[in-house]
Amino acid sequence: MLIVGIFTFIFGCIFGSFYNVIIYRLPHHQSIIFPGSHCPYCKKEIPFYRNIPLITYILQVGRCHQCKGKISLQYPIIELITGIFWLWSFNQYNISHAVYFILITGILTCIAMIDFDQMEIPIILMLLVLVIEIFFTIYNNDYYHSLYGALAGIGYLGAVFMVTWVLFKKQPAGFGDLILVLLLGIWLGPISILITIFLSALLTVIAWGILIFLQKINHNDRMPFAPSLIISAISIYMINPAISF
Ligand SMILES: [Zn+2]
Repeated sequence: MLIVGIFTFIFGCIFGSFYNVIIYRLPHHQSIIFPGSHCPYCKKEIPFYRNIPLITYILQVGRCHQCKGKISLQYPIIELITGIFWLWSFNQYNISHAVYFILITGILTCIAMIDFDQMEIPIILMLLVLVIEIFFTIYNNDYYHSLYGALAGIGYLGAVFMVTWVLFKKQPAGFGDLILVLLLGIWLGPISILITIFLSALLTVIAWGILIFLQKINHNDRMPFAPSLIISAISIYMINPAISF
């Protein structure tokens, strides 16, 4: 059982490494397959034996082997988180449930990081989430869970949009965030999506307050909403999938 766990974790880390490629290249419209990994500073190709998730970062103390340029801490963190998601899912859920979880959390991780970096959510990733959700909704015969979740999420955030618009003449989040809430509602179901929206609003306000206090942003700066939505959604799902209705 321990061996299975170790292999699951390693596979997760390898997938995490691939997600890093998507996060880095997709917003720049670069191919995610060719060319192979290369250093962003010296542009030298990274050979496969120096491209081992987590291990390379630790052995090279976070620097490029050739030019000693600093490698972003984002790379090992995404690898580690993905490894943990894989290990968690295969310990907690049955096989179809686990596959659903790792597929969705993988794409959501990419969406969160791209929105954090670029303040945009690629449509192609949201479409991919939708396709996976439709497949598993049909496979699990779970139509009401998905439908009520989507309606609850979009209804609640739609109401928040309207109230904020009437009171402050401001849009609280982007159109992409609205679609993301719809997708998270399909995955989580009606109760969990409501808790998720509430928790993510709280997280965003706290993060905003801290950044204002540290003078990293101005009062008028926009905050990406997808990262806190996704952190909340995955946490709530992991804490108790039974309330996912
Ligand atoms: Zn380099």
